[in-house]
Amino acid sequence: MNVHDSEQIAALLKGSGYEMTDDFRKADLVIINTCSIREKAAQKVYSQLGRFRELKRRKPGLIIGMGGCLAQQWGSKIFERASFLDLVFGTHNIFQLPDLIRTIEMTGAQVEQTRFRESIKSLGIVAPPQNGAVSAYVTIMQGCNNFCSFCVVPYLRGPEVSRPLRDIIDEVKALADHGIREVTLLGQNVNSYGKTMGEGADFATLLKEVGKIEGIERIRFTTSHPKDLSFDLMKCYTEVDKLCEHIHLPVQSGSDSILKRMNRGYTKAEYLDKVESLREICPHISITSDMIVGFPGETEKDFQETIDLMEKVKFDSLFSFKYSEREGTAAVKFDDRIDECIKRERLQMLQSLQDKHTLERNRALKGCIEDVLVEGVSKKLPDEWTGRTRSNKIVNFKGGGELIRKTVPVLITAAYLHSVRGELHQRRGDRCL
Ligand code: SAH
Ligand code: SF4
Repeated sequence: MNVHDSEQIAALLKGSGYEMTDDFRKADLVIINTCSIREKAAQKVYSQLGRFRELKRRKPGLIIGMGGCLAQQWGSKIFERASFLDLVFGTHNIFQLPDLIRTIEMTGAQVEQTRFRESIKSLGIVAPPQNGAVSAYVTIMQGCNNFCSFCVVPYLRGPEVSRPLRDIIDEVKALADHGIREVTLLGQNVNSYGKTMGEGADFATLLKEVGKIEGIERIRFTTSHPKDLSFDLMKCYTEVDKLCEHIHLPVQSGSDSILKRMNRGYTKAEYLDKVESLREICPHISITSDMIVGFPGETEKDFQETIDLMEKVKFDSLFSFKYSEREGTAAVKFDDRIDECIKRERLQMLQSLQDKHTLERNRALKGCIEDVLVEGVSKKLPDEWTGRTRSNKIVNFKGGGELIRKTVPVLITAAYLHSVRGELHQRRGDRCL
C-alpha cells in the first residue's frame, strides 16, 4: 500500500514540474513516506530524519515533507521533534500535495494537513508504467473497520471507504492503455469492498468487471480477511479466467484464544475449512499469509497451535513478525507481555519451518509448464529473463528474443527458496502441482 502511495505521490508531483532522482542529495524536494505498523518501521524513520536534518543544513532551500501513517499519528507535533521539516501530510491528503507544496514555495511557512476525508478523492492521475513496468496497483478502498486489537491501521487510515466501481474500471482501462498487463487490487480487507458504497457491487462483481477489460491478462488482490472470505469470491477462481491462482490470507495465529484476543473474528478450524474449500475449488492455488508471534498471553501451547496450523496448511510463503505494541490499540491493555527472547526464538522456529514448506511447495513445480508473464531481465543474470507464474512465483529463464510483457510457457527445472528456474518451452501444456 505504501509503495503504491509513493508511486502516486511521484506521478502527482510530476504534474508540478518535479522529476524523480535516484540521488536524494540532488533533490530540491524530499518526501518521506512513512509506515508505523510496527515499532521497527517507525524507528527506521526516526533514524532517517537525522540524515535529512543534515541535508537541510547544507541546502537551506530544500523542501522536506513527511507523509504516511507516522505523519498522520504525529500531526504538527512532529515539528517539535524535527523542526527542519517543511510539511507534514496525512494518509487522506496526498491529492493536496501540489497545493501544499506551492504554499511552501511561496511563503516558506511550515504546513500541516492531516485531516481525514469521508470519500476517496480520485487523484485523477494514472501513474504510467515506470521503465516498462508490466504490473500496477489499483486502490479499491481505503481504511479499515475491523479493529484487530494489535493494529494501528483503523486509527491512522480511518474508516473503511470503497471507491466507486466506475472509477476503478476507468483507472484499470487507462493502465491497460499504458501497457499494463497485470493489476493488483488493493485494500486492507478487499472482501468487504462495496459495503460502504451502496451501489450494489461487491468484490466478486468488481473482479468480474475487471476481468472484462481488454489488455489486462492477470488480476491479483490483497489483502483478504479470512472472516469475510465468501463462497462467491472463492468461485471467482473458476469463473474469472484472469484471476491468478494465489491468495494472501493473513491468519496471524493458530490459537483460538489468541485469535479471540486479537479480535480476528474466526477460529483455527474456520480458517482451515476455508483453506480446504479454496483448494477444492482451485487445486493449484498458492496460499500465503501473515503471522504474529509473541502476542500478549501467547503460551507455548498457543505457539504449538500456530505450528500445527502451518503444518496443516503448508503456506507457499509467510510474512512473520514479532508482536510490536502500538500506542492507542486495544492490545496495550493486555499486561501479560511476552519476553523479547521468547519472541525471537519463536520467530526463528516458525521461519525455519516456513522455509522448509516454501521449498517443498516450490519443488512441487519441477517438471511443470507454467505460464510466465515476463517482467524484464533478471537482476542477477542480465542474460536471463525474469517473470512470475500465475501463482506468484518468480521464475528466471534464458533466451527467446524480446519477451518483455509477453506471457510464455516455461518448463520449471529447479526450485529455490525465493524463486524457481526454467527453460522456455514451445508447447502450452497442462500445469501440475
Ligand atoms: N489488513 C491486513 C493486514 C495489514 S497490516 C489483514 O488484516 O490481514 C500487515 C501485517 O502486519 C498484518 O497482517 C500483521 O501480521 C502485521 N502487523 C500489524 N500490526 C502489527 C503489530 N502491532 N505487531 C506485529 N505485527 C503487526
Ligand atoms: Fe489492521 Fe485488522 Fe484492519 Fe488488517 S483487518 S488493517 S490487521 S485492523
